[in-house]
This record gives sequence, C-alpha cells and structure tokens, in this order.
Amino acid sequence: MDKITKMSDAILLGCKHSAQAFGVMRDTAGRTCALGAAAEAIGFNPMLDGEIAINRRWPMMYDEQLIKCPVPDCDFFSPFGENPILTPVQVLMHLNDNHRWTREEIAHWLREKGM
Ligand SMILES: [Zn+2]
Repeated sequence: MDKITKMSDAILLGCKHSAQAFGVMRDTAGRTCALGAAAEAIGFNPMLDGEIAINRRWPMMYDEQLIKCPVPDCDFFSPFGENPILTPVQVLMHLNDNHRWTREEIAHWLREKGM
C-alpha cells in the first residue's frame, strides 16, 4: 500500500510522469487528466479501474455538496442561475477539461479544501 493519503498529493505525484490530457483520463500517448494522474499515482490504470479505485480511496470526492467552480463568473454548471449540487470530482474534471487548469493548480485547489 502506498503512503498517499490525500487526493491532491496523488495528483501532484502522478502528474510528474506525463503531460496533461483533456477530456479523457488517459489518452493513447499516455497523457493524463488530473483524475488519471491520481489513479496512476496509486497504482491503477486510468482506463480500466482507475476511477473505481479513486472512488474507494477518496469517497468524499463523490459526495454531493454545494461546491462551486472556483473560476469567478463561471456559469458552466448554472447557466440559468440555479445553484447546482456538484461533487468535487465533477468540478475537478471541469477545471481540467473546460478551464484547462494545470493538474498542479487543481491539486492546490483541492488541498485548500483539505482533500
Ligand atoms: Zn468553471
């Protein structure tokens, strides 16, 4: 068992090994999104069992809570002004794919939330 306890640490470790991917956990060139990087860091294949492993290790990433995209004025999840209930992993993927935050930036955002 690895010693990684936080999702943010897993992302920071995993992103050292490859460039960033967008829209997929890992592309054919081996690039990974923030979620894929975390999966690789804990020893799982992003394209097979990576998300299941993350769900088991960090179930709070899948808790529904009032969490917002940290980008000011972003209305991606609430185009009509409603306040959506999101999971941290939904926002994480959105930051990776839509705002093109680096995986390091995403990890720091998560760390500020204690995850
Ligand atoms: Zn956003």
